[in-house]
Amino acid sequence: MPMITSNILNNCDRFFVFKGNEILVRNPNPGTVELPQKEVVQKFFEQNYAKDWFFEESKGYFTVILEESVPALQGFCWISLRQLFASSYAFTNLCSRALALLNWRKTARFCGCCGGALQDDKFETARICPFCGSVFFPRISPAVLILAKKDDKVLLVRQNQGNTNTYTCPAGFLEHGENIEACAKRTIKEECGLEVKNIKYCSSQHWPYPDQLLIGLTAEWAGGELVLQRSEIDDAKWFSLDNLPPVPKAGSIVYELIKNFS
Ligand SMILES: [Zn+2]
Repeated sequence: MPMITSNILNNCDRFFVFKGNEILVRNPNPGTVELPQKEVVQKFFEQNYAKDWFFEESKGYFTVILEESVPALQGFCWISLRQLFASSYAFTNLCSRALALLNWRKTARFCGCCGGALQDDKFETARICPFCGSVFFPRISPAVLILAKKDDKVLLVRQNQGNTNTYTCPAGFLEHGENIEACAKRTIKEECGLEVKNIKYCSSQHWPYPDQLLIGLTAEWAGGELVLQRSEIDDAKWFSLDNLPPVPKAGSIVYELIKNFS
């Protein structure tokens, strides 16, 4: 890890401090989130809690990820980044970018061609191999979520791994050779055994867990009966909007898809 200098900190306006997927904020007043100042960040470096860090001067932020063992800090708390998505803070998107890039850096340490240790590129958001010249850009993994409709009902599924009673939309990662529509059709067919038509884009969201772009789509049922892919899906049903099960909260793309249902 390169050495931090006070010059670097002086040139940044915002400081995103992570531990796992949580971000450090001052003990929040209701409805507000305040980030730590550089003096707090400096202390983490002095106490050797920084695992990795980088900054983007053109975007005005500095970010650091800390060891899990970092002790609690008076006047601050850790919150899930998901809590920020529900509000429209000016820095939410930057914060999401910072976490996704920190996640990427964990796996972009050595060259896939020659095994050399990678370094930050000076000009682009990339890692370069000083031995063979290979350049590695951050990975973004597109995934679709599809809200399928049949008459006045929507299809929601409960996933196996979730360990919760929350229902969500069928979702799948884009595969090579597919466009977004083909991915949506395959996902619904694989997970629920259904055909869909009239696939329409609704909205998208960056999702840094670790590196997704979530693409929210709507579709209409075109045929077939529910046959569940049991390795992925625990339950799937058509729900009326006035009788929904627990669904993801505001700030999630599933919430947006359901809210915009018509
Ligand atoms: Zn190399």
